[in-house]
Amino acid sequence: MIAILGMGGTIAGVAHAKIQTTGYKAGVLSVQTLLEALPEINSIADCMCEQIANVDSADMNDTLWLRLAHRVNTLLAQEDIEGIVITHGSDTMEESAFFLHLVTRSDKPIVFTGAMRPNTALSADGIKNLYGAIVVAKDINAKHRGVMVVMNERIQSARYVSKTHTHNLDAFSCPNTGDLGYVIDDRAYFYNPPFAMHKAQFCLDTITQLPKVDILYSYTNDGSAVAAKALYEHGTQGIVVAGSGAGNIHHSHKAMLQTLMQQGLVVVQSTRVGAGIVRVSEQDSMLGFIGACDLNPQKARVLLALALIHTQNPTEIRQIFEHI
Ligand code: ASP
Repeated sequence: MIAILGMGGTIAGVAHAKIQTTGYKAGVLSVQTLLEALPEINSIADCMCEQIANVDSADMNDTLWLRLAHRVNTLLAQEDIEGIVITHGSDTMEESAFFLHLVTRSDKPIVFTGAMRPNTALSADGIKNLYGAIVVAKDINAKHRGVMVVMNERIQSARYVSKTHTHNLDAFSCPNTGDLGYVIDDRAYFYNPPFAMHKAQFCLDTITQLPKVDILYSYTNDGSAVAAKALYEHGTQGIVVAGSGAGNIHHSHKAMLQTLMQQGLVVVQSTRVGAGIVRVSEQDSMLGFIGACDLNPQKARVLLALALIHTQNPTEIRQIFEHI
């Protein structure tokens, strides 16, 4: 049995006109309605579905994440569940998928999918993506791969995937690693072996709230020092900086971060570039700055929030980032 969990998004979105692919409402149709549009799946898999939420994924939040993670872990423990498919908005899919990648405990496939065009659009892609995701979730070679994303026939690891186009159907890519494989009609093709599984697996059993972590940008004439101070004063425990180039931060912004780090803020340096690795210098490392390695800012934010549940010690958090 494949469990299909609905979170909302464009895949469940509705517009006024068939030609409309902007300005529509995401998260309207139920996951049951989506599945009913796919009777072809009956010859491939037994499916059950459940609505966890129905939101535009720009509005995704910790409460919904914890609800989803607890439900997924409960389902994974059931013997009759072979795999899980999650329908989700594409905007923050990479964050939710990476979150689940870090907090689920099973070798069974977990596959996120969604759509770039609302259900009502000409050549809407959602139902086809849903079909592909279920095919992957059923595939024997999909085990032991952590959480995956299936969009536009590509099978991608939640660890590495990112949304890299605003409107194209082919909107997801893995700039540092490439894809795991493809799903064509009713067959999945895996080309890459499973990437190293995450070593830092986080247990959420007793967790009802996540530490607050925010993201700031660095840019010419960067004025984020004010924002950093305000965030810290309003309860932010960690800040990820989308730095320029290899993670660099404007000196006035960086000076404020240093001051706040002395008061307990944890700072991770990522990059706004979109590919590559951020390593901090030995000097910055001594000051407490932590390099995000190959995690983009939004993924580094997820890992930092989970790490902060266990420790505020920058050395221990650095180790978590280096071994992820
Ligand atoms: N704004 C939508 C969402 O993320 C976009 C999508 O699903 O493609 O829910």
